[in-house]
Amino acid sequence: VTYSMVRIAPLLTEIFESAEPIAAEYQVTLHKECEPLTIEASAKQLRELIMNLVSNGIKYNHPGGNVWVEISSEGPDMCIRVRDDGCGISKEEQERVFERFYRVDKGRSKKMGGTGLGLSIVKHIVEFYGGHIELTSTPGKGSCFTVTIPFSAQNKAKS
Ligand code: ATP
Ligand code: MG
Repeated sequence: VTYSMVRIAPLLTEIFESAEPIAAEYQVTLHKECEPLTIEASAKQLRELIMNLVSNGIKYNHPGGNVWVEISSEGPDMCIRVRDDGCGISKEEQERVFERFYRVDKGRSKKMGGTGLGLSIVKHIVEFYGGHIELTSTPGKGSCFTVTIPFSAQNKAKS
């Protein structure tokens, strides 16, 4: 893993550029709001984390849907919030979606490709940096994933 001072705003712009074709295919609109933050981390890991959440927000959505990404500083933490107005996840499924290979709608998921690993990778990266991930969701309304990563945790992650 290579660490550097990662500027979050340009990274998010780059992630949106690669997500835009998928969003267009699903007719989902992407929105972002980002403070000019810098964090010592692996750009590759951060990209993978955010990209997985954004692509889920696109895939588990409907034409005309939206995905909002908001990155801000909240005290000692960097906060990454990825919200969508897609299909949502039931209370029972919310407990399980971070498990490896777990997918809510097997038939529909199979058609869309993917492996069911995305969120387990996200959780792994978040925990590597000593952070937390929280999910709130309402079936039929949408989902919100909130990741917090302490700015000061990079040293811990490296050792
Ligand atoms: P992969 O990420 O490997 O392409 P995947 O998207 O199925 O496959 P995860 O990202 O781990 O795997 O997500 C697990 C399951 O959780 C998904 O199959 C989907 O059912 C559900 N899920 C994840 N994100 C959302 C979301 N934003 N809205 C609704 N359901 C979601
Ligand atoms: Mg996924």
